[in-house]
Amino acid sequence: MKKDIASFNWEQMQSEIELLGEKKFRAKQIYEWLHEKGTEQFSEMTNLSRQLQEKLNARYEIRSVDLLQRQVSALDGTNKFLFQLCDGNEVESVLMKYKHGNSVCISSQAGCRMGCRFCASTIDGLERNLTVSEMLGQIYQIQKICGERISHIVVMGTGEPLDNYENLTGFIRMISDEHGLHISQRNITVSTCGIVPGILRLSEEHFQITLALSLHGSTQEKRKKLMPIANKYPLEEVLSACDAYFQKTGRRMTYEYSLIHGVNDTDEDAGELIHLLGKRNCHVNLIPVNPIKERNFKRPSGENAQKFKNKLEKSGINVTIRREMGSDIDGACGQLRRRYAITREG
Ligand code: SAH
Repeated sequence: MKKDIASFNWEQMQSEIELLGEKKFRAKQIYEWLHEKGTEQFSEMTNLSRQLQEKLNARYEIRSVDLLQRQVSALDGTNKFLFQLCDGNEVESVLMKYKHGNSVCISSQAGCRMGCRFCASTIDGLERNLTVSEMLGQIYQIQKICGERISHIVVMGTGEPLDNYENLTGFIRMISDEHGLHISQRNITVSTCGIVPGILRLSEEHFQITLALSLHGSTQEKRKKLMPIANKYPLEEVLSACDAYFQKTGRRMTYEYSLIHGVNDTDEDAGELIHLLGKRNCHVNLIPVNPIKERNFKRPSGENAQKFKNKLEKSGINVTIRREMGSDIDGACGQLRRRYAITREG
């Protein structure tokens, strides 16, 4: 099997090229083609001899992430991309344009096995982990298609990033590396459903990224009903892992809370949430739940969401309501999918 060359980091590329018996500077050239120019064919690496191009081609593959479909939201200009991977799997990514820059939401797995009740991405289960190159590829492609620089990344698309730990951390290192796109780690957010060993391990990586925890319930009992992972890692353990993350990295935690009408949006819920987070230096992001067709969850009225927010704010919690982006193209949180009719028909 050919090796996945675009998943090699800077150091790995040097040793790989050395092993091939090639001069050291070739590693730099190849790395630039792959990670600065986003080249997908060895034959396009014009400063390499034909012979070397062929040698590379015989041993390595450049895993492509091919555009199948692009949708643009009429509401807010958000773009959703459906990409095909080399084995036919499909993943989605979303580009959101903000005043502060272009932000891309990438997928970390094809499918997901976490089973959160309100999320469309988990409905067909997990197919496989994405490689480092496939996570990078989503960003390279979007940058190419749009012709604009991407400055921010959120790993909040399909998949549980901490269920694909090695590739996630490899990706973070490479995308923030000076030899690649050099995106500041402070502009990268990883969202997790709460895999405790992963959070603890991540806290030791010396990253400057933001970690977001999907909380969604203000007590263990309520959280368990929405998120099966809570059976394995109870709320108390998850919160202490998040505290450890803050202590070790100095990066303030974000807690995401999907507001679901009649499920977790009452006054009592707000009170419990204050009890839980009031003493923590953190940011709370409220996400009025985005409806998915397989479930009957409804979002609260704008007024109710605002009331919930005010209550948290009054007790000193730093809180925002997430702006809904791309809801007309199913590009909002929890609406991304692995399977699409367009490819089955086409
Ligand atoms: N697996 C990761 C990241 C993917 S989801 C995680 O669980 O955090 C990104 C965020 O969207 C999570 O907070 C997730 O719980 C939330 N989400 C999922 N489905 C949603 C929906 N239908 N409406 C609103 N938010 C949703």
